[in-house]
Amino acid sequence: VPRQLRVGLIGAGIGRSLTPAMHMREGEHCGLSYRYDLIDLDARGLSVSDLPALIDEAEALGFAGLNITHPCKQAAVALVDELSPDAQTLGSINTITFHGKSRIGHNTDWWGFAESFRRGLAGVALGHVVQLGAGGAGVAVAHATAEMGARSIEIFDLDPKRAQALVEQLQPAHDACRFSIGHALVAALDAADGLVHATPTGMDAHPGLPLDGRLLTERLWVAEIVYFPIETELVKRAKQAGCRVLDGGGMAVFQAVKAFELFTGMRPDANRMMQHFNSL
Ligand code: NAD
Repeated sequence: VPRQLRVGLIGAGIGRSLTPAMHMREGEHCGLSYRYDLIDLDARGLSVSDLPALIDEAEALGFAGLNITHPCKQAAVALVDELSPDAQTLGSINTITFHGKSRIGHNTDWWGFAESFRRGLAGVALGHVVQLGAGGAGVAVAHATAEMGARSIEIFDLDPKRAQALVEQLQPAHDACRFSIGHALVAALDAADGLVHATPTGMDAHPGLPLDGRLLTERLWVAEIVYFPIETELVKRAKQAGCRVLDGGGMAVFQAVKAFELFTGMRPDANRMMQHFNSL
């Protein structure tokens, strides 16, 4: 009898998420009876205020863990007993593991971005990095870029308060990297090795480019995190300009790779999960 495992994803508007398919297929390959439920707040007419009850219910049903996504990643922090050190730095979690009566919160988004970057943009310069977007995902990827060895990261956000909050949150955790709030994008890109994009621009619901496409020159590498669609306007334009480009798919796959590991205690086949994702 295969070992049975039940996990789920809590979030709003998650009907198209590819995460359940990735987990269940890999679980099957690993000889597990692996059930991954979508717990969609929108579909159930619920809100973030229902999160405590939903987590209690999953725990009572014997789930091995949960993935947590928008808009619950911050609220979930207060609902676990312990945080991994990275989750503590980031102030948001996308994974909970249940251990008897105790719950641990993890953040696998930042690691997902870092692992995708190490594979897709191996060897690029990380002296000065410009990042657009300082929301929840922006905090995770800026942490990842600093962990990978960036010397300086300049953050731009339409809402300057969010850029400032990111800098104040991450600077104390990174002695070797200088975080700053960006004001002049043209000059910043002129001095940059690469560009990280972490705003929703380019998603099906927010089409377009997050910056003037003429600013993309082959000198720059470009790392995108939007992955609906995989080939965003930014990815397209950056390729045309001759940049080395990373799309957002890898981050989505590798956050699932790490979460699978946390749920099962088994090492999934990351390349197989990537291939499966690309076929979906
Ligand atoms: P969010 O809404 O919390 O933050 C987005 C931030 O971008 C906001 O602070 C907003 O002010 C800013 N912004 C919007 N347009 C801008 C522009 N043109 N220039 C500068 N700043 C701008 O969203 P989030 O949770 O951080 O997610 C951002 C995007 O990241 C999502 O749309 C999603 O597609 C993507 N994402 C991808 C992965 C992955 O695994 N690949 C994981 C998480 C999020």
